[in-house]
Amino acid sequence: MNTQSSNHADVKKIVGHFINGADVADDNRPLPVMNPATGEVSRHVAMASKATVEEAIAAAESAFPAWRNTPPAKRAKIMFRFKYLLEEHAEEVVAALTNEHGKVLDDAMGEFGRGVEVVDYACGIGELLKGEYTKNVGPDIDSWSELQPIGVVAGITPFNFPAMVPMWMFPMAIACGNTFVLKPSEKDPSAPMLVAHLLKEAGLPDGVFNVVNGDKEAVDTLLEDPRVQAISFVGSTPIAEYIYSTGTKNGKRVQALGGAKNHAIIMPDADIDNTVRALMGAAFGSCGERCMAISVAVCVGEKTADTVVDKLRAELQELKVGNGTDACNNMGPLITQDHYDKVKGYVDLGVKEGADLVVDGRGLVVEGHENGYFLGGCLFDNVTSDMRIYQEEIFGPVLCVVRAESQEQAMQLIDDHEYGNGTCIFTRDGEAARYFADNIRVGMVGINVPLPVPVALHSFGGWKRSLFGDLYAYGPDSVRFYTRRKTITQRWPSGGVREKAQFSFPSNQ
Ligand code: NAD
Repeated sequence: MNTQSSNHADVKKIVGHFINGADVADDNRPLPVMNPATGEVSRHVAMASKATVEEAIAAAESAFPAWRNTPPAKRAKIMFRFKYLLEEHAEEVVAALTNEHGKVLDDAMGEFGRGVEVVDYACGIGELLKGEYTKNVGPDIDSWSELQPIGVVAGITPFNFPAMVPMWMFPMAIACGNTFVLKPSEKDPSAPMLVAHLLKEAGLPDGVFNVVNGDKEAVDTLLEDPRVQAISFVGSTPIAEYIYSTGTKNGKRVQALGGAKNHAIIMPDADIDNTVRALMGAAFGSCGERCMAISVAVCVGEKTADTVVDKLRAELQELKVGNGTDACNNMGPLITQDHYDKVKGYVDLGVKEGADLVVDGRGLVVEGHENGYFLGGCLFDNVTSDMRIYQEEIFGPVLCVVRAESQEQAMQLIDDHEYGNGTCIFTRDGEAARYFADNIRVGMVGINVPLPVPVALHSFGGWKRSLFGDLYAYGPDSVRFYTRRKTITQRWPSGGVREKAQFSFPSNQ
C-alpha cells in the first residue's frame, strides 16, 4: 500500500517562524520542502533575514527576567503539561517527521519518544537545580552555591532528527530558566513548529521559546549577536567546528556535536545471528541517516567475517524499502536528491577503490515512487582504512566490513579514526568487553548494544572530532551547560562588636 502523500493544498504554503508566542508569516527567500518518498514539493519554508532573527532574540531577551524568576516548580508544571500534550499529539508530529524526513513511522515514533524522555527529565528541574550550602565557613559566615540561568540560548539542529535533537536542547534550557531561539533544519521544519505551538498551549509565556527558520544568514546572526549567551549545535563536523570557533570567539558558551563513523567489533565468540540482526537495524535503520548508525563492522578473524557477510547478504535481500508511511517498510528514502547523489557517489567510489560490493542498492526503483530518493541497502566487504569510504562519513545505507586479526587491531582502527561518537562490541567474553569499554577512545560505548544512545538520565556526546566543547547534550551535563554557578558568602555578625581592619588574607588557620 504505497501512497503518494503530498498534500497539494499545502504546496504553496510557506512555513514562517514562531516569535514571541505567535506565528510570523514570511516569504523571504522561500526554499522548497520535499517529500523525499515522492520527490514532490510538499511546502516551502522562509529563510529568516538578520532582522527577523534579531526580532526573535529581542523577544527571548525581554522574556528572560520574568522567566528567570519563575519558580522552578512552576516551570516544571509547564513541562508536565507539555509532556502530556506531546503524547496527545504524537501522531501529528510523527506524520510530519515521516513526510519531510522520510523515515518509517515506527522509527519516527522512536525518535519522538526519545525526545519526550528529555521532557520527563526536565520535569525534575527542582531537584536538579538544588544548590549547595555550608554553614559557618568562618565566624558568623555561611556560604552557598547556586545555579543561575545564563540568558538567551540558541539551538541549531540537523535534518535527521527534527523532533528529538531540538528536544535534547530546549526542554532543559528552558527548565533551567533560560529563554530559547531554535534554528531547525530547513529540510524538515514542520515538527519543530508543531512543538512550538504545544509549548504555548502548555502555558509557556510568550518569548521564552522562539523558532526561526533559515540558513547561514540566520545562524551567523545568532553567532554574532551579543545578546545570545550560549549555543547548542548538532550537525556535521565542518559546520560544528565553524560554530564552535565563531561562537567562542564571540564570547559565547558553545557545545557543537558533529559527525561520526561508528564501528562495531564482532568477536569470534559473538552470537552471530543476533549480531547480524542488530547490525541490520543499526546500519540501515533511518536509511543510515543517524549519527549513531553503525557504518563499519570490524570482524575479528576470517571465519567471523565470512559468516557475518553471508548472513548480512541474506538479510539485505529481505530489507523492505519504500515510503515510510507504509508500515511494511523497514527503510525509507534519503532526505534529498543531492544527498542521494552524494551517497550513491560513495558507493561508486568504493568500487573504484577496490572494496568488494557484496550487495548493490543502486538502481533500486520503488514502484509508484519513481521520483523518490530511494537507495537500497549496500554492503561492502574487504574495506581497508586507506579508502575514503572508510574514512569519511557517508550518512546513508552503506555498511563497510573491515577484516581484523585481533581485538587489539580492531580497537586500533577505532582509536585512529578522526571521529569518536559511538561504538559497540559484540561478544560473550566479559573480559574482552570490559577491556574494550575501559580503553576505547569513543564517547558512547555499547556492549552487545548497537546504538548506545544514552537515556535522558545520562548525557550524550562523542570524543575527538565528534564534539567541540566540554559538555555533552541533555542529562546532568545539560544542567551545567545551561546554568552558571554563583557562590555567595554571607556574614551576619553578632551585634555590637567593634571590628578592626584585617590586612591578612581571611583564613581559618
Ligand atoms: P549540517 O551541518 O549540514 O546542518 C546542521 C545545521 O547547520 C542546520 O540547521 C543547517 O541549516 C546549519 N548549517 C548548514 N550549513 C551551514 C553553514 N555553512 N553555516 C551555518 N549554518 C549552517 O548537518 P545536517 O546535514 O543537517 O545533518 C547531518 C549531520 O549531522 C551528520 O554529519 C550527522 O552525523 C550529524 N549529526 C550529529 C549528531 C550528534 O549528536 N553528534 C546528531 C545528529 C546528526
